[in-house]
Amino acid sequence: MNKPFNTFKKISKILFRYDEDARLNLFETFPFIKRFFLNRKNLLYVRSFGDIVFTILIIIGIFGPQDADKNVVLFISWGIWWTSIVLSWFFAGRLWCGFCPFPGLGRIFQHFGLTLNLDVPPFFRKYCAYISVFLLALIIYVEAVTDMKTWPAGTAYLLLSILLGATASAILFKGQAWCRHMCPMGKIIGSASTLSISEFRPDRTKCKTCRTFSCKKGKDGIPGCPVYLGAYNVRNNLDCLVCGRCVGLCESDSPQINIRNPFVELIINKGRHLTCAFIIPFLMGSQIARFVQHQDWYRKVEALFSGSNLIAFSVLLALGFAIFIILARIGSKLFGLTEDEVFGRFSPMIPVIVPLAFTGELVYRLEYFLTNIGDFVPTFGRQFGFALDNLFFSIDSKLIDFICIAALCIGGFACSYVLYLFNSGDFQGILKKKNYISLHFIVFAILSGYIIAFSF
Ligand code: SF4
Ligand code: SF4
Ligand code: SF4
Repeated sequence: MNKPFNTFKKISKILFRYDEDARLNLFETFPFIKRFFLNRKNLLYVRSFGDIVFTILIIIGIFGPQDADKNVVLFISWGIWWTSIVLSWFFAGRLWCGFCPFPGLGRIFQHFGLTLNLDVPPFFRKYCAYISVFLLALIIYVEAVTDMKTWPAGTAYLLLSILLGATASAILFKGQAWCRHMCPMGKIIGSASTLSISEFRPDRTKCKTCRTFSCKKGKDGIPGCPVYLGAYNVRNNLDCLVCGRCVGLCESDSPQINIRNPFVELIINKGRHLTCAFIIPFLMGSQIARFVQHQDWYRKVEALFSGSNLIAFSVLLALGFAIFIILARIGSKLFGLTEDEVFGRFSPMIPVIVPLAFTGELVYRLEYFLTNIGDFVPTFGRQFGFALDNLFFSIDSKLIDFICIAALCIGGFACSYVLYLFNSGDFQGILKKKNYISLHFIVFAILSGYIIAFSF
């Protein structure tokens, strides 16, 4: 009878008291989760449902009315779908990738042997991270300058381009090369998942004696890990898609999904991954530019550039990116240690600002969701000829502002907490007191910048 309460207590303890080693194995505690992954039909159903929904969205987006008030594709894509993915980063890590419909068409091609089945060349592996960061930047840029959230066909083209990228790469390469190396969404989801309260990991004691490595190679005609990792190679949340294929392949019951403290991975990695060192400052700079774009005084900025939204936004974006790159570098220098013989180079300021980067993205999406949810059913009515306008409702803009600013403040406090953890752990005795205070000041300045850009 006390079991649910004990589980709740254990989870709360893990989430709210930092302990690098504390974990709760969800496969053991809630066996139905493991059963879900073991029965591959479950994922097939979810993905097939996703395939159907996304096909309909693409068709309606391209061929449906192009008036934003008469096409539900916009709210479903930007309000429901993308906001849910952003929210899922914090709880389920990269789980969306396990259900994602984009690689579906490529998997069908591969199933029928319509693929060159090539290995991904080493140079490609090396430079693809930059390409995917560039593609991510391009998506954010195009979304803002074309006002894609009011352009149904543009939204559909974006979905179509990700689908085409995943399919073309499945025709050329083995497995899901797109997902491992190129997908811009995958990169942002992977980076954000470092802050997740859950992780997909192997039980390393079981992997030590493994001779088959079926999780990576596959067995009995069932292909192995689609992103060439295998459970035994999963050390962070960046690359594993949480597709669960290896759960059924492993003979030793090693893969598991754990609950962990959300700061563990940030503290352990210390900003070691180069892509994060670019994605995070870019994302934060773009958020400031995107928040400002919605303010009345943005018209004055536009007027400075002959009324051009494209130039004004580009300048703000470049400025924001440069400021966050500089702040990340200054911050990392203040730590007094950015290289280690064993660990290599790292940027400790990146994990400090990660919570605000992803809360900022959540706030940007949440504001759109809360502002437009009341018009979703009436829009559906206008598109399909039903009189549903009387079902319109609106959420008070003051309440939306309050929710968004509260979320930003939580993100800011989380940044300060990461600093505290560094100062009382890995950087104890290395980080000077005045630098520690300066770092808190930088965090406070960034949070203030976010609140000003969002509210005024
Ligand atoms: S990496 Fe991209 S295409 Fe692949 S599963 Fe994730 S979101 Fe979908
Ligand atoms: S996860 Fe399973 S199959 Fe993979 S290395 Fe570990 S024990 Fe072997
Ligand atoms: S390690 Fe396992 S869960 Fe992760 S992508 Fe590979 S097969 Fe899927």
